Amino acid sequence: MIRLFLDCELAATGRVSPTPEQSHYLTRVMRLGPGDVLLVFNGRQGEWRARLAETGKRGCVLAVEDHIRPQEATPDVELIVAMVKRPRLETIIEKAAELGARRVRLARTERTNVDHANIDRLRAIATEAAEQTGRLDVPEIVAAEPLGRILASWDSGRRLMFCDEAGDAVPAAEGLSRAAGDRWAVLIGPEGGFSPEERAAVRGLGVTTPVSLGPRILRADTAAIAALCLWQSTLGDWRGLEVGLAAAQVR
Ligand code: SAH
Repeated sequence: MIRLFLDCELAATGRVSPTPEQSHYLTRVMRLGPGDVLLVFNGRQGEWRARLAETGKRGCVLAVEDHIRPQEATPDVELIVAMVKRPRLETIIEKAAELGARRVRLARTERTNVDHANIDRLRAIATEAAEQTGRLDVPEIVAAEPLGRILASWDSGRRLMFCDEAGDAVPAAEGLSRAAGDRWAVLIGPEGGFSPEERAAVRGLGVTTPVSLGPRILRADTAAIAALCLWQSTLGDWRGLEVGLAAAQVR
């Protein structure tokens, strides 16, 4: 079933207009015609069944019919990732969306050697992944900021899983199973790693759990995926209790 993210209010018996690109996708690429059914969500009001009502030159109109799923609470985990080259960054965004990150923040670090990211393209990738994966929200993508600024404005209620390949970090599953807190961020460095000063600043935040992702150095995209998997399985919604709850909400 086609799922579409719509940035507008959704209500039963409402009529909504997808963007021209979405209309093109529905009618030209997927060849939907009047009467065909799809699912829509807006990140706030759950998921709805909708029907293609009209097609026209300037786009199509959908009739929103039934509320299928209520918006559900999801784990509050964000990914902070140093800028890396475009293909890897795009992989990171797509996989972070699939793995349930609420937000991805891009960071500039001392050894970051990539300057530019096309934020609109990254947002489109996040939206597509959210549509495909069945989640009810789209991860927010925050444009690149210097790591120093991110650390300086840190919310002290948010814990930090610092993926640190150098030194004495404890194995990730072990470190996380001993940690508490329900708001988290996962931090992944650039291909050149963090500088000693950056490592010290990150460790000095007071909310940091430095963790190792094993004895091999991983690429940033692999590290981001591995870290989110570990976080979801120890603290997030891959655990039995929450998985049961999510299933109950679907029914
Ligand atoms: N400093 C390394 C490469 C960094 S890999 C070098 O040049 O040899 C990019 C990022 O992935 C790191 O900053 C870290 O956040 C994460 N990472 C990769 N392998 C890791 C591991 N084994 N344990 C913890 N984090 C890792």
